[in-house]
Amino acid sequence: MGHWTKGCIAIFNGLIGQGEIKGILENSIKGNKVSHAYVFTGPRGIGKKSFAKIFSGMLLCEKQSGDMRCGQCFACKTFDNNTNPDFHIIDAGEGSIGVDEIRKIQSEVIIKPLYSSRKVYLIIEADKMTVQAQNCLLKTLEEPPSYAVIILTASNYEALMETIRSRVSRIPFKKYNNEELRAILDLWMDKPVNNMDFVLSFSDGIAGNALDIAGSEEFVRIREESINVILKLSTKKADDIFNAAKFFEENKSDIDTILDIMQTFYRDLLIYKKTKNEKMLINSDKKGIILNNIAKFTVGKLGDNIELIENTKRILQQNANFQLSIEVMLMKLQEE
Ligand SMILES: [Zn+2]
Repeated sequence: MGHWTKGCIAIFNGLIGQGEIKGILENSIKGNKVSHAYVFTGPRGIGKKSFAKIFSGMLLCEKQSGDMRCGQCFACKTFDNNTNPDFHIIDAGEGSIGVDEIRKIQSEVIIKPLYSSRKVYLIIEADKMTVQAQNCLLKTLEEPPSYAVIILTASNYEALMETIRSRVSRIPFKKYNNEELRAILDLWMDKPVNNMDFVLSFSDGIAGNALDIAGSEEFVRIREESINVILKLSTKKADDIFNAAKFFEENKSDIDTILDIMQTFYRDLLIYKKTKNEKMLINSDKKGIILNNIAKFTVGKLGDNIELIENTKRILQQNANFQLSIEVMLMKLQEE
């Protein structure tokens, strides 16, 4: 590495974990075995987009070495300014990716790169491509120009057509262990994390979840209120359903989080009821509340409640009526 001047960038150094993936990507560049197409898979928040962007920068640098990019060449400078003409990002955001966006790639990819030896197309949440869009992309994947690299990210790999899956190299991201999550939180949070044990177990090995909930006052508020809903429902008063429904309506945009919190709380009650082992609790910081309320629930009812929330998540994803689904859920949660 002696010839590397100051300013060069060791590409994956800023990213914690995923050692196997770093190795595969670095070796593909070093060994001159870069694929024409990749799909980075794994749950939302696992780091697919961050890794894909860094890998793209590496592919475009004119003086890269596989694990370093120079940071000085024109390709690097424009990449860092988000103006590199050989780099294109398509991001589904909240919607889907339609055929028109893929047609643009199709007609653009045949023009040779301007400053690099490659052109890189990054399609974020490619699993949100419509069937037409996927069919269109397939044509490019069947006969890609030699300089083109197409990187897809997908949290739902199965949503990609088999014909696409068979033409892309899959890079599966793994969940982070607690040590890695701690390091990620240390790196990105500007203050120490309260209730670290809860943050680690609730985030389920997903860095994006850990970063979202650590230090978020909004999350703390929603969590307290969600747990209160559970406790109030266990007192069997009719007006509690009305108040609980109001809380759901007012926090509609956080419905996934609320249902996850309620589910883990019921799960903890169930686990404790069965095992009496405090170490197995996700909501370890709420141990006192769990122990004080455990007698109000039976094993059977807790199991039913967990399943009920799972069903509610599913029907909401299928665009069922929000208010009705929540009210039915709350009534059933309250039932003896
Ligand atoms: Zn460079």
